Amino acid sequence: MYDSLVSVIDELYGTSRPVSLHEPQLGLRERSYVNQALDSGFISSVGQMVDWFEKEFAKIVGAKHAISTANGTAALHVALLLAGVGKGDEVISQSLTFVATCNAITYCGAVPTFVDISPDTLGISASGLRDFLQSCCDIDADGHCRNRLTGRRVSACVPMHTFGISSDIIEIVKLCDEYNIPVVEDAAEAVGSYHADKHLGTFGLVSAFSFNGNKIVTAGGGGAVVTNDAALARRAKHLTTTARIADGFEFTHNEVGFNYRMTNLNAAVGIAQLEQLDEFVQRKRRVHDVYAAWGRSNGFQIIDEPKGTKSNYWLNVLVANSKQERDEILEFTNENGVHCRPVWTPMHQLAIHGAHEGFDLPMTEYYFDRVVNLPSSPVG
Ligand SMILES: *Cc1c(COP(=O)(O)O)cnc(C)c1O
Repeated sequence: MYDSLVSVIDELYGTSRPVSLHEPQLGLRERSYVNQALDSGFISSVGQMVDWFEKEFAKIVGAKHAISTANGTAALHVALLLAGVGKGDEVISQSLTFVATCNAITYCGAVPTFVDISPDTLGISASGLRDFLQSCCDIDADGHCRNRLTGRRVSACVPMHTFGISSDIIEIVKLCDEYNIPVVEDAAEAVGSYHADKHLGTFGLVSAFSFNGNKIVTAGGGGAVVTNDAALARRAKHLTTTARIADGFEFTHNEVGFNYRMTNLNAAVGIAQLEQLDEFVQRKRRVHDVYAAWGRSNGFQIIDEPKGTKSNYWLNVLVANSKQERDEILEFTNENGVHCRPVWTPMHQLAIHGAHEGFDLPMTEYYFDRVVNLPSSPVG
């Protein structure tokens, strides 16, 4: 039966090996823009390409402001600071995510607390979030949400749109609003994904995107902070540019900022890629259709976009029927030169991010044992 999966992958990606999980599609357009950047003499964090990239990306997501960063983790770090996350705070997120989500929370001096995922989205379960808020949280005299079990301020909620599939973001934002908790979307995997007709990353107060080499569009390395709030956008730019204030010929720095800007060379690659986003999404959706058809006729669940949403299908997800079956699929495909991969180890199982609390996350553990990511490069 796993033979037929490898045959399907042969049809999609050809028979040369290895078939990687996700490969960047780079061509003449990228080369031409990089040459333009080189010719301009601006190769670092100032230049026309960076401005162009930010404008273009804001337009694509339909947000007022996009501030480019060196990578998605830096974007998340800044987004959390903009939301007011500080030392000793608690930030609600999901355990089934890439480690960067929790690393960024930790950079702020805060700790993550985990709500279980929904099987439909592999993102934060709205009912799990409601249970957590109702059973553990109060609003204190200052109007801040507090976890009464830990005594910590709950200063943000970070839903992650897993593999480009929309989380139940409308309900999550609604619940967080009731408890005065700002929502910071980790939309790192969600460029080109929508809930209703609204691009993911535009539902919360602020969001973070990634343009790493393995994402749907890449800048080599890069990220973006996205918001509709002009004051937050100015602060994002300030924090990512070493908190620099120009005073005639001199610069001063009014706080400890970061060197988190995207370079002009990276932005050149990023623009070339953004221009092909629609094409990449279309191709990836065709790849998804092929896997979905294979899954239906072979007794496997392939996770589909929830109704009313549109996924970029960054990485396709096969749900094995048991951990043993998952291991067999991983072994068989990898022995055949096909880079299928298990999902990330859940954060609550990592000593660095889960040690401070006992978490009961049955769905997270269920999917950790069964998810297989299938090769998902956007082939033509
Ligand atoms: C890729 C990714 C990030 C971080 O992006 P980098 O550009 O690699 O720093 C953050 N969160 C999630 C969920 C990601 O997939």
